[in-house]
Amino acid sequence: MEKVIFIKYGELSTKKDNINFFLKKLKENILFVLDDLDVQVTYDLGRMFIYTKNNFDEVLARLKNVFGIHEINVGVVIDSTDIEEVKKEVIMLLKEKEFKTFKVESKRTNKKLNTTSVELSKNLGAYILKNIANIKVDVHKPDIVVYVEYRLNNTLVYFDAIKGIGGYPVGTLGKGLLMLSGGIDSPVAGYLAMKRGVKIEAIYFESPPHTSIEAKNKVISLAKKLAKYNNELVLHIINFTEIQEEIYKNIPHDYLITIMRRMMYRISAIIASKRNAKILVNGESIGQVASQTLTSMNAIGEVVSMPVIRPLACFDKLDIIDLAKKIDTYETSILPFEDCCTIFVPKHPVINPLKEKCREYEKIIPYEEMIYHAIKNHEVIKIKAKEESNEFKDLL
Ligand code: ATP
Ligand code: MG
Repeated sequence: MEKVIFIKYGELSTKKDNINFFLKKLKENILFVLDDLDVQVTYDLGRMFIYTKNNFDEVLARLKNVFGIHEINVGVVIDSTDIEEVKKEVIMLLKEKEFKTFKVESKRTNKKLNTTSVELSKNLGAYILKNIANIKVDVHKPDIVVYVEYRLNNTLVYFDAIKGIGGYPVGTLGKGLLMLSGGIDSPVAGYLAMKRGVKIEAIYFESPPHTSIEAKNKVISLAKKLAKYNNELVLHIINFTEIQEEIYKNIPHDYLITIMRRMMYRISAIIASKRNAKILVNGESIGQVASQTLTSMNAIGEVVSMPVIRPLACFDKLDIIDLAKKIDTYETSILPFEDCCTIFVPKHPVINPLKEKCREYEKIIPYEEMIYHAIKNHEVIKIKAKEESNEFKDLL
């Protein structure tokens, strides 16, 4: 019987009226990551099915990075809902396997079946014991679990349950612009936003010659790691040197970071609107540094009207590091290249900046012109998860 990959949706199945929209997007995203393989994808409200002749391992490996997938199974579809027929098929499948202990897990979405899941499991378990010699039931640590799903028009049988990464399919919640530095936090913040279905573009502020080409390449490598969940990723690179030098020269040093971040926010919000992104996303975490106190967040946040989502706001640094390791961005993030903030960090940054002072200081510098200039000349890189990145500048 033909082996098929089944996908379980998890949280998606709670989307009653919109479920078709979510599933269509999930299929699209799956086809995108499998585009060079010979596969067919079909779906109904309960499951997505992936058929492939000889690419099972590769398909499974790639599906592990697709948001919206709760669980992945490999099994067979029996085109019957007749319990006796299912029993015979299960025996045929089990005869190909080596095991001493087993248990049956049943699920019944076909409510026409006049029995419970527990009864179905018991009934099939007894039949297996009768038809295969030298095996016994072990509900705690079986060698094999026989999963059977009794559906309206067919029955699924499988033996493995691989955990998917969950969340919503990327793109179902629209677009966000991620402020991506070379640090540990922002790639993780981007990952979490994508997990909620937000397709991201990223923006990076560089200050050559104060920041190096290695620092930029590090951000590009991080963007590439994120692109694997996002199908591809557009990275906006802003030359921040002029603005940063002007701030450094003219503004009291305790307010350097506050004003610099207000400029970053302003530029990010303009790029976001141009690219139809509805939110900014960043790696700020309450209390982590002076610019991330609640008063700082207020003083910095007042310059933009779009929501700023901070997925890590309430995370401990150690938990962030764990996640960074899990998504494989940590080793890149800790490479020792300075980004623009670290170079211009004052000795005593203000912890409770006043909005009035920010506004007053900003009058000293012609920031609107500089912002216009920085945006006009910004570089855009489209990063594909699979191939080498290719640069182009005509996106805006
Ligand atoms: P990370 O927070 O990513 O570890 P970091 O600690 O160097 O990097 P912070 O100074 O904590 O950065 O800045 C907080 C957030 O502001 C970052 O998580 C990131 O979202 C954004 N940010 C900081 N520097 C830059 C930059 N050069 N380009 C784009 N975004 C930046
Ligand atoms: Mg940080």
